[in-house]
Amino acid sequence: MSASKYPHLFQPLDLGFTTLKNRVIMGSMHTGLEEEKNGYDRMAAYFAERAKGEVGLMVTGGIAPNRQGWTAPFTSKITNKREARKHKKITKAVHAADGKICMQILHSGRYGYHPLAVAPSAIKSPISPFKPWKLTGYGVNRTIRHFVRAAKLAQFAKYDGVEIMGSEGYLINEFVSAKTNKRTDKWGGSFENRIQFPLEIIRKTREAVGENFILIFRLSMLDLVEEGNTWEETVLFAKEIEKAGATIINTGIGWHEARVPTIATMVPRGGFTWVTERMMKEVSIPLVTTNRINMPDKAEEILASGQAHLVSMARPFLADPELVKKAKEGREDEINTCIGCNQACLDHVFKQKTASCLVNPRACHETILNYTPTSSVKKIAVVGAGPAGLSAATVAAQRGHQVTLFEAQKEIGGQFNIAKLIPGKEEFYETLRYFNKQIEQHKVNLKLNHKATAEELMEFDEVIISTGIKPRQIKMEGMEKNTILDYEDVLKHNKPVGNKVVIIGAGGIGFDVAEFLSHEGESPALNKDLFLKEWGIDKTNSTRGGLVKPAPHPSPRQITMLQRSETKVGKDLGKTTGWIHRQSLKMKKVTMLKGVAYNQIDEKGIHITINEQAQFIEADTIIICAGQVSVNQLNEELVTLGKTPHLIGGGKLAKKIDAQRAIKEGSELGAKL
Ligand code: FAD
Ligand code: SF4
Repeated sequence: MSASKYPHLFQPLDLGFTTLKNRVIMGSMHTGLEEEKNGYDRMAAYFAERAKGEVGLMVTGGIAPNRQGWTAPFTSKITNKREARKHKKITKAVHAADGKICMQILHSGRYGYHPLAVAPSAIKSPISPFKPWKLTGYGVNRTIRHFVRAAKLAQFAKYDGVEIMGSEGYLINEFVSAKTNKRTDKWGGSFENRIQFPLEIIRKTREAVGENFILIFRLSMLDLVEEGNTWEETVLFAKEIEKAGATIINTGIGWHEARVPTIATMVPRGGFTWVTERMMKEVSIPLVTTNRINMPDKAEEILASGQAHLVSMARPFLADPELVKKAKEGREDEINTCIGCNQACLDHVFKQKTASCLVNPRACHETILNYTPTSSVKKIAVVGAGPAGLSAATVAAQRGHQVTLFEAQKEIGGQFNIAKLIPGKEEFYETLRYFNKQIEQHKVNLKLNHKATAEELMEFDEVIISTGIKPRQIKMEGMEKNTILDYEDVLKHNKPVGNKVVIIGAGGIGFDVAEFLSHEGESPALNKDLFLKEWGIDKTNSTRGGLVKPAPHPSPRQITMLQRSETKVGKDLGKTTGWIHRQSLKMKKVTMLKGVAYNQIDEKGIHITINEQAQFIEADTIIICAGQVSVNQLNEELVTLGKTPHLIGGGKLAKKIDAQRAIKEGSELGAKL
């Protein structure tokens, strides 16, 4: 197998003045490196690694054209040559690796998380605490000049082009939409007026940078907000963008404030490519499609069926910088697939932390975490093939150590084998496929159905204990009178569950169990039409903003989730995905109660108290999702025998354990032994 398996993906694209070597773009991602100490050195290494991985073109994270355009105070901006010079480290490294890179110019508009934020009109966004200042007429012209200046400075810094960010609800989108643009001057009013702001930016940028410079415009093709644009308006705008001098149009789906998931893992692969496809007959410049394209076969299918000229993948390049190269060389089973979890990338950025990747902790840490060959080969035992043990074993083996991996179960994966069963988490299968391949490739001696004992581990130079966690059991009066299960009983052992269900504990696993039990039939994550119907997305493009009434499949059960804490139910779920889980369950009419004191259980249900009010909730099945405890007796036994094992993952600390911490700990340990 080779590039010939993906003839469309590997077809070069001639832009007249330059040629892209294939049809894959690494989409823009703010990683937080922009603001880190030595951030530009780290970005140079980060982008160079991806250029070596043979992606056709990359786009940097958004860089503001001025201070008002900052996404948050002191985030990166490009306003003078001193700032531009720093970018030369990036362009030099990328060009040395035979890559191409554009700089994204992003003015955050009313999404700016600071008091200087500006917008066409002084209307606060529902997701920002800051009310923006209305730009004056002078301010609009000055902002246009700043966009153009940023593009000129990008050219000075030797970028191959720029991407002008016109989607996701940022400043340009705010000008284009009547929802956020209530101006009465020449920049507001009719649609023709509202699009003049971006068109002026494109025209003047093209004039300033000349013909031989890539100018991508990211167009909001589907706003997914009330009062968003119509399809006819979007087409008209696209035609004008072409006339104004853009080289390529990229697709934007949904404003950040949209209440529809657009990139999270429950979005089917390529779930929005039909939007770009509809635009294909309207303009003659190349179109890029995007959102949840994470593997080469999907990308090839999209290109081959004429849905776009190029595909953009962003997070998949955090997960695996060599994605394109591996596809070209027929090594797609070695691709570390992005599972769309957002846990280490977007969630980090929204918490002002440097991005990384759950499945690849090296992402954005290329100068810090490296898997260099060992100079003294050791015999290493790893006990437990959950995410922690798998990463430790495969990284250590990749470095040349002789690794034996013991797993008590019949397959690798640990709790991931349960997680993958949740509708919307099907991508977790890919991580297990990846680790299986890594085990084979790096010759890890895998012993399945083998519960390791302390005695057999004594002969190893190093022992890693990654024995994970098990559900925490609780005691409550009357438990013997009803059907009490834990999450493993439900998900792993398929024990029968009744129609009236109470879930005790509303953490991530409680939510997943509710998701699992409220679904029936095919997972919408695997069926685009079901997904669009469930979330109320209008595939006919006949409504403003592309929204219709959501029509989820009704839950076959009546589910109540209870939590002891007074905080909002689901507060600790992912920053960028928690709202999706909450909304999904609300659509399934799942009840969520907080501040619950548990009194007793009987054959009909559970007696609780909330705000000093006694309540009774009927239940024929009560499921305990009240946290987890570490499994680590083996560690203690080894210590008693005089060994010094390394304890990682849930076995070390069960509290708040997730796969991100498990894989990071495993990889870091594997890298240093
Ligand atoms: P485990 O996954 O528990 O693996 C431990 C392994 O050790 C097991 O395979 C066990 O059989 C083996 N073992 C134990 N003792 C021995 C022995 N003596 N000899 C040999 N083998 C032994 N995390 C996320 O980050 N994102 C999510 O979206 C997510 N969703 C989840 C959904 C569900 C329903 C569940 C249950 C978990 C989810 N998690 C998620 C949590 C994540 O799966 C765990 O945090 C992670 O698996 C912990 O990894 P670990 O390697 O420490 O332990
Ligand atoms: Fe993809 Fe999750 Fe990694 Fe982000 S953290 S790149 S969503 S796998």
